[in-house]
This record gives sequence, C-alpha cells and structure tokens, in this order.
Amino acid sequence: MKTTVFGFALLASLFLSIHLSAQTMPADADPALWARALKVHKKAIIVDGHNDITGPMVDMDFNLAEDSTNRRQPSGEALHTDIARLKKGGMTGEFMSIYVSGSTLRSGGAMRRAMDLIDATNREAERHEDLITCTTAAEIRRAKKQDKICLLMGIEGGYAIENSLYALRNFYRLGVRYMTLTHNVSHDWADAHGDQPKNNGLSEFGKEVVAEMNRLGMLVDISHVSEKVMSDALDITKAPLIASHSGARGVNDHTRNVPDAILKRLPQNGGVIMVVFYPSFLDERTRREATERSAKLRDQIAALRERFKDDQPGFVQAETELMAANPVYVTDYKRIVDHIDHIKTVAGIDHAGLGSDFDGVDVLPTPMKGVEDLPLVTYEMLRRGYTEQEVRKVLGENFLRALAQAERVAGNRQVSGQGSLKKLAPPKTN
Ligand SMILES: [Zn+2]
Repeated sequence: MKTTVFGFALLASLFLSIHLSAQTMPADADPALWARALKVHKKAIIVDGHNDITGPMVDMDFNLAEDSTNRRQPSGEALHTDIARLKKGGMTGEFMSIYVSGSTLRSGGAMRRAMDLIDATNREAERHEDLITCTTAAEIRRAKKQDKICLLMGIEGGYAIENSLYALRNFYRLGVRYMTLTHNVSHDWADAHGDQPKNNGLSEFGKEVVAEMNRLGMLVDISHVSEKVMSDALDITKAPLIASHSGARGVNDHTRNVPDAILKRLPQNGGVIMVVFYPSFLDERTRREATERSAKLRDQIAALRERFKDDQPGFVQAETELMAANPVYVTDYKRIVDHIDHIKTVAGIDHAGLGSDFDGVDVLPTPMKGVEDLPLVTYEMLRRGYTEQEVRKVLGENFLRALAQAERVAGNRQVSGQGSLKKLAPPKTN
C-alpha cells in the first residue's frame, strides 16, 4: 500500500509541476521564489473584483468549460477566462460583471441586458461542478475548502436599476453584491469620470441609492465615478466602499484611478481599491502612446469600417493588422504592484486588492495572457518583500473583510423591510 501511495504522490507531484509550468513564469524569475509564490498563491483565498467574460457568455453562448485560449470576442479581442484557466490562476471568487453599456441611456433595455447577464452567470454555476454562486464572505471561504470557484455578481452602470429602488432590491435578491454607480457617462443620479457632471456628484436620489445599498448589504463601487461622487459616497456610506477595478492616480494620473485624497479616507471607511490590470490605466506611457495611435489611425479605421461595412470579421482582421503594424509600448505586470505599493503607502496594506478587468480589455500587461497568470502578481509582491500575510490580504482577505463588514452593517433585516419606496421616472431615451 505504501508503495502505491508513494507512487501516487510522486505521480501527483509530477503532474502538479507540469500543470503549474503551463503558467507564464517571468523570464528573469528566481526559480525558488517562483516556487514559493505558487505555494503561497495556492493556499490563499483569491478574489478578483471584475471579469467581463459574461459578455461572451451571452453574446457568443460561450460555455466556461470550453477552452478559451484561442477564442476571440466578435470585436477581435482574445478571451482571458475559462474554468481550466480560473483553476490555474488559483481563483476562489470571481466577480462576473453585469455590465450594461451607457448607450442604453439612449436605446433603453438596460435592465433587460442585466437580466440576461445574470441568467448566464447562474446558468454556468448550475451546469458545472467546479463552479458555485456565492453571495457572502462565509460562502467564499466555504468554497475554498470545497475546492470550488465562486461566481459572484456586480452590476456595472447604476442606470441598470432604471431609477428604481424596487429593482435594486430585486437585483440583490438575484445575488448581486456590488454596484458600480456609473459607467463612463453621467446619468440621472450620479456623475461619471471624464464626463460632464449632471448632479454635482450624487443627487438626492443617488444618496438614497447608497443608503439602500448599505441597508441591503450590497457594496458601493466607486470605479468609473467622478471624484465628487467618490467623496459624496464616502460622506454618507455606513459600509466600506470598493473600487472593483481602478488604480491609483498617484502612479498614473487617469480619471479612472483613485486620487490620494480618497485613498486617505479608506482607513476610516474600511474600503478596498481592487487594482485594475488595464495597461492604459496602469501606466502613463502606455496611455499616451495608445491615445496618440488612436488619433493617428482614426481616419484609416473609419475607412476600413466603411470598406468592410457588411463584413464584421473582415473589418476585425484588417483593424488587427493595422494595429499590429503600429505597436505601442505595453507596460508589464510589475506595474500592477506599483499601484498596490502606492495604496499601501497612502492608505495601508488593508486597503488594496485585485480587480483585473479580464475580458473587458484588449490588452493585458506583459507577459499576461489571462486569468491563469495571477500568480505573477503574487510573485512580484513577494519579490518586493511583502510578507505572506500582506500578500494574502491583497489577494482576497481585504475584500472578504469589507464584504463581511457590509453584511454586518445590513444586519438582520428583511430585503423588503424598511426599504425606501422612492423612485424616479425611468431614464428618458431617444
Ligand atoms: Zn469598467
């Protein structure tokens, strides 16, 4: 028997080493530190604040059990997520984005889109043994013990509730545990980053939304909102805030990132900035070169769009070739840890997390290919001297603390309970 067990263990460890070697090891990695990083990573609870694979799940009927490595979105971007890759990345809790485009403010259909994405998320959890839906911090911890991957849900674009707190409560009942108050456009009750303000931050109704989210135990997400909305939300919230996928403006001064003035208020609030992986948000040079390229190629892309107007795959291929012929500098995974470092310096280690935006971006920091490459971040934190405990906080423990605190603020209440009955007319479309 002993031989069999030993033989099995040997075989298992051989398999494990092959399995792990499929990940991208940094070219200049110290092998001993890389091995330690993989060990620390495997043991930790890992929560990612933002993943957009939900779009392909609805629009391409993408099944998470399929191999996504050679699949592309209709717009040409490579897919980053499937079950095998989530496992390789050590994922415990992945926030599936219920992303609703700001264009629905003109076309209508915001709530319908959210419903489709929520169904697709639940469907994946229902049909795959490896997946489970989670709605509490305790459920995420239990899933780790059961070796399952939690799918969690966060709405991106507060107009998905179509100005109704009744709808907000139903989204909570369906399992949604955070809501990003805006996307890239200001709407009836909250202003977006980089757009004209409509409400000087949060309107009175917007404040009511935040209060109701606190009462329910749904986290308020300040990614994408204007700085004034960030500070209004901090003024009134009773529970920790998150930024589900943003960086620090102290490293790259982009409106999608969080300024130091807000970071400084996090110790008081208990919130977590989950650092985005999008190179243009992480790095000034990438952002500048990407912006310059867009300006330079604008007319050529418009011409291609006209030429291939009845041939979307043809357009995507021509556009991809044009981009490849005009490359820009793409920052690497170490830049992610520059943002974590900055948050650690200004707010403290208890306030940093991960919010990749996998499948929501056209490029990842080199040499990342997808969710399987999360151990690179662990490696870089260890390389910079972070303790194992600090690494675990960033990977997931900080988020779990914030969610558990939001659950305590909500307390033992009924969802319908004392909820506000205020509502505005649905957003006007045209
Ligand atoms: Zn986003």
